[in-house]
Amino acid sequence: MASTIGRIRALQLGRQIRHFSSSPTRYAAEVKSLGVLGAGQMGLGIALVAAQRAGVPVTLVDSSKAALDRGLGFAEKLLSKDVSKSRITQEQADEARSKLFPTTEMEALSEVDFVIEAVPEIPQLKFDIFAKLAEVCSKHAILATNTSSISITKIAAATTKDPRDMSASSRVVSTHFMNPVPVQKGVEIISGLQTSAETVDTAVAFCKAMGKIPSVSADSPGFLANRILMPYINEAVICLETGVGDRDAIDAIMKNGTNVPMGPLQLADFIGLDTCLAIMKVLHQETGDSKYRPSVLLAKMVDAGWLGKKSGKGFYDY
Ligand code: NAD
Repeated sequence: MASTIGRIRALQLGRQIRHFSSSPTRYAAEVKSLGVLGAGQMGLGIALVAAQRAGVPVTLVDSSKAALDRGLGFAEKLLSKDVSKSRITQEQADEARSKLFPTTEMEALSEVDFVIEAVPEIPQLKFDIFAKLAEVCSKHAILATNTSSISITKIAAATTKDPRDMSASSRVVSTHFMNPVPVQKGVEIISGLQTSAETVDTAVAFCKAMGKIPSVSADSPGFLANRILMPYINEAVICLETGVGDRDAIDAIMKNGTNVPMGPLQLADFIGLDTCLAIMKVLHQETGDSKYRPSVLLAKMVDAGWLGKKSGKGFYDY
C-alpha cells in the first residue's frame, strides 16, 4: 500500500515539483478548524461528519441564506435521528450542532486550516472560487475540492496567474467524499500535478480523523471510483440494449453472483442516469478511448427524462 502511494506521488509530483514546493508541512493534528463551501447535499454531510468525528469547529459558507437554513435544518434532523436510535447521546448531538458556524461571507474562511469546496459541478464556478480562496485563506490552509469530474490540476492552476508560483496550487487537493457522506466510508484523495506530498498527507490524515477510509489516486478522468464504476454500469445498459439479458437477469446475476447490495441498473437509477451519462461523456471525451462510449440506450433514456429514482422513472418505476 505504502509503496503504491509512493509510486503515485513520484509519478504525480516529480522531483522538481517537490523541490520547488513552498508549502509548509502540516498534519491533521494541526487541522484545528475546517471551512466548508456549499451547504448542499455533500457540503452539509462533510461539515456534520467533521464536527462529529474530527471534533473541529466548521465554518459553513453558502452564497444562499436559504440553502444554509435548509442545510442546518437537515443536520438537526440527522442528529435527532441518531439520538432517537441511540447511536449518540443528546449531549453529543448538541455538541456537534454547536460546532457548525453558518455564514454567507467567504471572508469568514480567512482563519481556517482546511477548506473543502462543495459547490455545484460547474468548472468556471470552481475556478473562480479557488482563485478567491487563494486570496482569502491563510497561507498554510489546505484547499480541497469535492469535484466529481473536474481536473484537480486545472482547479489548482486557477489559484495563480503565474504557473511558477505554487505557493497556493501546491495546497490544492481533492477530497472526493461519497454520497451520503455520514454513511459511506470511502473517500478518494486526488492530487493534481502541483499538489505537494505534505498536502496529500494532511488530507489523508484529516479524512481518517473524520472516520473515513481514504484511497489515494492520480488526477485522471473519473479518478478511481467512477473510472471503474461507470463503465460497469454502462456495460450493463449495453447488455440490456443488445438483448444479452433483461433487466431482472442483469441485476440478479450481479447481486447474487458477486455479492453487491444492488444490481448495476438499479444502482444507475439511484445515482441518476443523467449523472452516469455525464461521467461517461467525460471519460470518453478526455481519454478519446472508444471503450468509454456511452450506451445509446442510456442517452435515449436521459433524453426521455427517465433519470431514475429522482424523476420517478428509470430502469425501474418509483
Ligand atoms: P448541491 O447542489 O446539493 O449543493 C451545492 C451548494 O453550493 C448549494 O447549497 C448552493 O447554494 C451552493 N453554492 C452555489 N454557488 C456558491 C458559491 N459561489 N459560494 C458558496 N456556495 C455556493 O450539490 P452537491 O450534490 O452537494 O454537490 C457538490 C459537489 O460535490 C459537486 O462538485 C458534485 O459533483 C460533488 N459530488 C456530488 C455527489 C452527489 O452524489 N451529490 C457525490 C460526490 C461528489
